Amino acid sequence: DQTLTPEHLMHHLQHVYNILRHDAAGSLPDYIPELSQANPAHFALSVTLKSGQTLQVGDCEARFTLQSLSKPFGYALALQTCGQDAVEGVVNTEPSGDGFNSIRLDEGKFRPDNPMVNAGALAISSLLLERHGAHALQQLQNLFQQILGRDLPTDARVFTSENRTAHRNRAIVHLMHNLGMVQQDPEQILRLYLQQCALQVQVQDLSRLAATLALGGKIPGQTLQALPKGVVRQVLSVMFSCGMYNSAGEWACKVGLPAKSGVSGGLMAASPGKLGIAVYSPLLNAYGHSHRGVLACQMLARRLKLHLFQLE
Ligand code: GLN
Repeated sequence: DQTLTPEHLMHHLQHVYNILRHDAAGSLPDYIPELSQANPAHFALSVTLKSGQTLQVGDCEARFTLQSLSKPFGYALALQTCGQDAVEGVVNTEPSGDGFNSIRLDEGKFRPDNPMVNAGALAISSLLLERHGAHALQQLQNLFQQILGRDLPTDARVFTSENRTAHRNRAIVHLMHNLGMVQQDPEQILRLYLQQCALQVQVQDLSRLAATLALGGKIPGQTLQALPKGVVRQVLSVMFSCGMYNSAGEWACKVGLPAKSGVSGGLMAASPGKLGIAVYSPLLNAYGHSHRGVLACQMLARRLKLHLFQLE
């Protein structure tokens, strides 16, 4: 594919970077106090190819926490180690049409709508705790270790800051416990969830993680599978329908790729069979997605003809 050679990709990355470089729209999140300290000027783009080669532009040294970008990986780990049936027992796979912090549960079994919203990710954390106990976080780290070659450091300031102010997530997990939806101790569930949210990456880590999903679990440039293909198919399906919360429909039309955002300003998109894209820019739009991240993905998808339903 001519458009996907490293030279072409670098050209497009640079071009998109230049167009958006001075776009300062959006705002920093303040409900997690530490995240409001991010440098609003930071902007970085990265693409990881099948070969494992990564191309990047901008403030690539900037570090940020995974936040909701950790959710697809927690979900994948649960599917792999707890099984599809157990996972289906605690979380649905329906787009909610609500924001990421929606407290809505279904009427029958009180299951959250999907594993990409906080309530769903908390249900997954409960399952991981039940299965792995005190080793649950390490299990997730093992997955990152396989793909990135190292455990991810924890940003202790972000963890403490969020833990201190997590009134809404605390309410959600206590409510689910009260309804008998989750079995584990609510504070331990919340702790595991906030720990995964506080893992720290750079933009090139994120595009490599996205590329691994894009390649059906195969690590870029290696023959090793980090995750089973069937698990990744499920994760990408849910990312496509639910990853961008209440703007998932617009995203499907304008970008047409499975994706996930984090409130730290990271955004990843997976182009199946081809490559992984990541953007870091901490100023957020009204949905809680990186403002420049959304625009950059729209431009790259159009320029590189990545929309899944764009037929040649
Ligand atoms: N830790 C954040 C929260 O629970 C994650 C949300 C997000 O990144 N959208 O609110």
